[in-house]
Amino acid sequence: MKVIEHLARADRPLISFEIIPPLRGGDIRGLLGLIEDLVQHQPPFIDITSHAAEVVYDETPRGIERKIKRKRPGTLGVCALIQNKYDIDAVPHVLCQSFTRQETEDFLIELRYLGIENVLAIRGDDSGYRKRLEHGRTINEYAIDLVRQIQDMNGGKYLEDLLDADPADFCIGAAGYPEKHFESPNLSSDISWVKKKVEAGAEYIVTQMFFDNRHFFAFVEECRRQGVAVPIIPGLKIITAKRQLHSIPRTFHCDIPAELADEIAAAKPKQVLEVGVEWAARQTQELLDKNAPSIHFYIMQSSKAINSLLPRLSL
Ligand code: FAD
Repeated sequence: MKVIEHLARADRPLISFEIIPPLRGGDIRGLLGLIEDLVQHQPPFIDITSHAAEVVYDETPRGIERKIKRKRPGTLGVCALIQNKYDIDAVPHVLCQSFTRQETEDFLIELRYLGIENVLAIRGDDSGYRKRLEHGRTINEYAIDLVRQIQDMNGGKYLEDLLDADPADFCIGAAGYPEKHFESPNLSSDISWVKKKVEAGAEYIVTQMFFDNRHFFAFVEECRRQGVAVPIIPGLKIITAKRQLHSIPRTFHCDIPAELADEIAAAKPKQVLEVGVEWAARQTQELLDKNAPSIHFYIMQSSKAINSLLPRLSL
């Protein structure tokens, strides 16, 4: 079922999750354990991130070598499992960064074979790698270009004329940033691009993580003021380790309120999870009380924190 259908039919608050594929060369057993654990919470859908190739410098007997690696391949395989073994709707993230439009089309065709109806269209961060484009191949620059490509497929328009090609029917989600995207001059300008993504075919928005609900409420208000009428799903992350006080703002460009940062800094390492869960529980409850359509949790690779959080909520 499509994400927007889940939202429209829900008679209780929906809780969805986002996980990442294993590291290149790693094995899937750990991830299977995580999925089994998440399934007990009956999520309507699970997002699976995608990862662009990146430039890495390896120390080898021949000296430092520049290599191009996709550190986390496997999005398609994980989606196939979630969709067909666990019968939960998989939402693969589809990227512009480091994929040609032709590769994206093939990826989307494979998703259709697997019965996957949902995608989140994302630009991806600059990983330092520029794909060499040969033989007339092209690349999507911004998420809006990718939304247009998927919407074209939904209208039966593929990159090449294909024999007997049915129109696709993907439900397309896109990203939003309650504290604005880091490249944007201001929130209002950033939201004007969110609006264009919606006009191009995105049917709902999932936000970047935030730790102060006021950012989310202000974001939704500005979206509505600019005419963005689709559901906006808040994305939350539970802090579980002290190092995240630095890594989260650096990676995701979001603020950690002083009250939360002080509590975590003062906590013993074993108490950090409890502080993070308590904070997320208050955030979640307030969002649900103020009619957020559902909550999307950035789980990444461990269900410990979410297993501790969900029983505390009155869902
Ligand atoms: P865009 O919507 O393209 O916006 C990027 C920037 O350009 C913004 O500042 C915007 O205001 C501006 N802009 C947009 N369109 C135009 C235009 N046509 N002309 C000029 N400026 C424009 N990253 C991954 O690598 N893998 C993932 O799986 C992944 N999943 C994510 C899931 C969510 C819910 C979120 C919020 C982020 C995710 N990211 C992921 C991170 C994302 O790739 C980065 O934040 C990226 O820098 C921006 O992606 P976007 O889709 O928001 O880009």
